[in-house]
Amino acid sequence: MQYYSTRSACDPIPGHQAVIRGLGPDGGLYVPDDSDIQINWRELSGKTYQQIAEAVLTAFFPDYGSETIRECVASAYNNSFDDPEIVPVRMFCDGAFMELWHGPTSAFKDLALTILPHLLTAAYRMDARTDTVAILTATSGDTGKAALSGFADVPHTDITVFYPRDGVSAVQRKQMVTSRGNNVSVVAVEGNFDDCQRMVKEACSSPAVKEACRSVTISSANSINIGRLVPQVVYYFSTYLKLVETGAINAGDPVTFVVPTGNFGDIFAGWLAKQAGLPVKRLVIASNDNNVLTDFIRTGTYSRLREFHETISPSMDILVSSNLERLLFFASGRDAEMTASLMKQLNETGSYTVSEEMLSNIRADFSAFWCDENMCREEIRNLFEHERIMIDPHTAVGLSALHQYQAEGHKEFAVVLSTASPYKFAQDVLKAAGEPSSDDPFEAIRSLHAVSGMPVPPGLAELESLPERFDTVIPSEEGISWIAAKMERLSHD
Ligand SMILES: *Cc1c(COP(=O)(O)O)cnc(C)c1O
Repeated sequence: MQYYSTRSACDPIPGHQAVIRGLGPDGGLYVPDDSDIQINWRELSGKTYQQIAEAVLTAFFPDYGSETIRECVASAYNNSFDDPEIVPVRMFCDGAFMELWHGPTSAFKDLALTILPHLLTAAYRMDARTDTVAILTATSGDTGKAALSGFADVPHTDITVFYPRDGVSAVQRKQMVTSRGNNVSVVAVEGNFDDCQRMVKEACSSPAVKEACRSVTISSANSINIGRLVPQVVYYFSTYLKLVETGAINAGDPVTFVVPTGNFGDIFAGWLAKQAGLPVKRLVIASNDNNVLTDFIRTGTYSRLREFHETISPSMDILVSSNLERLLFFASGRDAEMTASLMKQLNETGSYTVSEEMLSNIRADFSAFWCDENMCREEIRNLFEHERIMIDPHTAVGLSALHQYQAEGHKEFAVVLSTASPYKFAQDVLKAAGEPSSDDPFEAIRSLHAVSGMPVPPGLAELESLPERFDTVIPSEEGISWIAAKMERLSHD
C-alpha cells in the first residue's frame, strides 16, 4: 500500500512517510495507490468510535501496524472530547446532524488534529529520526487553534501559527494567544490570510531558512497532509452505523452527506469512504457567497478570478480549494500529467476547464449548492424557532444546501455535517436567531447559553480568564527572516 503524488504519480512512498512530508516534492498531494481499499462496514456494527477509527486507519495506513494505530487512536479520542461518543448524531425533522465539534477547540478540525501529532511522532519513531519537525501553519481561524492544541508539548515537534492580525474573530484570537505548551508560538502578521499562507510556502523553499534548518525539518499541519484526511473518513462510517443502529435507515440503504466546504478536505474524506464501500448516495458540496465550487460543478470551469467575500462562515471563505486536486486526479482516471497541467493553468491563468468526461465522473458523485448571508441567517432562525436546535453559520450553509437538494425531489436519508459549535460564533448566531447579542464575545456566549440551554464547551468557558501568552506582531515582509531566526534557535536546542 503506497502513496503517490497527484502530479507525477511516481516515487511511491508508504503512508507514514507521506504524513511526514505533507506535500509531494513536485507540489502535488499524496493519494493512495490502491483504489480498492475496502472496509466492511457491516463488521463494524456495534463498535465504539475508537474501534472504528482503528479499522479505518489500519486499512489506509497498514505500514504503521495495528498496535501503533491503536495507541494513536487512544491518545487522540479520549476525555479531551466533551462527549463519550466523540461524534454524536442528532436527529431533526429533515435528517440528522453529525456533530463534529465536541473536541478541545469546538470545530471539526479537532477530529484530525488531535491524532495527526501522534501519527507524525510514530512515523518518526518508525524511521528512527531524531530531528525536530517544525510545523508552520497559516490560519484564518480554526486550523490554528486546533493545531496548537494538538501539537502542544508533543516530543520532537515545534509549532508556529501565523494569523492575520485583523482577520480572525475575537474568540479565535483569544483561543490562539492563550495556548499552552513549551513548543508553541503564535505570531500576528500585518497582512491578510493570503500573506500568511505565502510566507509559509516561501519558507519551505527559502535558501536562508534551509541554511538555518540543520537538525530541523519543516512540515505542515494543513489539510494538504494525507494524515489529516484519513482520520476524517472515520466519522462517515461511525455515523452510518449509528443511523442503522437507531433504525433511522436499514442496513445497506444509501445515505447522502451534505458538507459545508472550503478547502474540499472534509468532503473528499466522504468520497474516500464511498470508495471504500460505505453506502453513500451523493455528496453535496455546500458553499457560502464564495461559490466557486458550485460554478465548477455546474459548468466544468474552475475560476478563482472573482470577488472574495468575507462572510459569517469565515472558515469557508476560500477561492482555491486545494484538495479538489485529489478528486481531479481520480476523475481523470489517475492521470497525473492532466492533473499537473490543470493545476499549472490555475496557477498561471487563474482558471481551468475539465473535459466532459471528467465532469460527468464528478457529477456522478457530487452535487453543489450555495447560499447567501440572509439565507444562512434564516436557516439558523427557522431551525431554532421550530426545533429549538441552535447551529453555527457553517452548519447553516449546509442546512440550506440540504433544503435546496431536497426541493429537487430527493428522498433518501441525509446527514448534514455540523462543523463548528454555535458558541464559536455566538454573536452572529444570536443576531441571526433574532435574540439580543453583545459587543463583548464572552457576554454573547453567556447570552447564547441562556437562550439555548446548551452546555458551553469547557475550552471556551475558561477562555475569558486565561492569561495571554503571545503578543508578537510582524510585518509580512519580515516573515522569512523571522522564520530563519527561529529555525536557527531550534537547531541549537
Ligand atoms: C475548515 C472548516 C470548514 C471547511 O472544511 P474543508 O475541509 O476546508 O472543506 C467548514 N466549517 C468549519 C467550521 C471549518 O472550520
